[in-house]
Amino acid sequence: MPQIYDRVALIGLGLIASSMAHAIRRGGLARDITGYAQTAETRATALEIGFVDRVTETAAQAVQGADLVVLAVPVGAMGNLAAEIGPHLAPGATVTDVGSVKQAVIAAVAPHLPPGVAFVPGHPLAGTEYSGPRSGFATLFQNRWCLLTPTERSTPAAVARLRRLWEAMGSNVDEMDAAHHDLVLAVVSHTPHLIAYTMVGVADHLQQVSNSEVIKYSASGFRDFTRIAASDPTMWRDVFLTNKEATLDILGRFTEELFALQRAIRLGDGPHLHEYFTRTRAVRRGIIEAGQDTAAPDFGRGAGVRADTKPAE
Ligand code: NAP
Repeated sequence: MPQIYDRVALIGLGLIASSMAHAIRRGGLARDITGYAQTAETRATALEIGFVDRVTETAAQAVQGADLVVLAVPVGAMGNLAAEIGPHLAPGATVTDVGSVKQAVIAAVAPHLPPGVAFVPGHPLAGTEYSGPRSGFATLFQNRWCLLTPTERSTPAAVARLRRLWEAMGSNVDEMDAAHHDLVLAVVSHTPHLIAYTMVGVADHLQQVSNSEVIKYSASGFRDFTRIAASDPTMWRDVFLTNKEATLDILGRFTEELFALQRAIRLGDGPHLHEYFTRTRAVRRGIIEAGQDTAAPDFGRGAGVRADTKPAE
């Protein structure tokens, strides 16, 4: 595969950045990868694993001479980092990010980038409940979507080049408006995470169900909630603080549907429940047909399929 960038700077060296580094290395997609993370421990781990060529002690040092800079830190940390790296970016460089929310990141990052630097926000819909530099793997983005949300700071050439990188890392790439992205993600990822956190929290509070019973019998639906609810607390705190409007909109709709189901249960309205569950089953079929999950029973756990790969973040 042909090299796409000369020097890539990864700001943040966790799950997403390390997976990108592995995939870039595997494909020969850049000549050189420099990394920066806030703690010396993470920087040392990245060097030890060897998915970066070097690490730097500041973000400003990392971006010098880079033609692609990737912000791969929690959404709430991006603005300050952009302010720090802004004056050190090379003319003609592209800055991108992988944040799970787009409007807030654009508002926080764009004002700090000098003229002559392109900004192409992005979001790979791929992840696991693990985090940190040891959690990455080269195939994380394989057959997953990566959404780019170009702004007036995105030149067509910069968008096309970044698209080639994501495609070379195995992703399917789509472009959409940042506001639309945030609404779509509130439906397919952010609100489901909040529901999973809530369900696990409810089980935790229920004194009548002992901890050992929750763990012992969790092979039912609850197990999947616990996996989602194990996701990184900092990342998800920032997602809800920054995608407030869309999440509240979807949560409002969710609550209405929940009350309707609650009422159907109280009234013994079997047809309502059956019709509802028939519709939701069709949604699941659509996801399998689109190749976004396995049709194997129990998500293929018995068949040795990776159980830690979630369809979307
Ligand atoms: P992660 O594994 O927790 O890694 C976060 C990295 O950011 C760490 O290397 C951390 O460094 C660094 N960091 C945190 N705050 C920082 C700061 N103030 N300055 C410099 N570095 C800082 O997180 P991740 O899962 O890769 O997520 C990164 C981004 O990708 C987030 O914006 C998230 O919304 C997005 N995303 C995540 C997923 C997912 O499923 N995980 C999927 C798609 C997109 P230290 O280790 O030194 O603290």
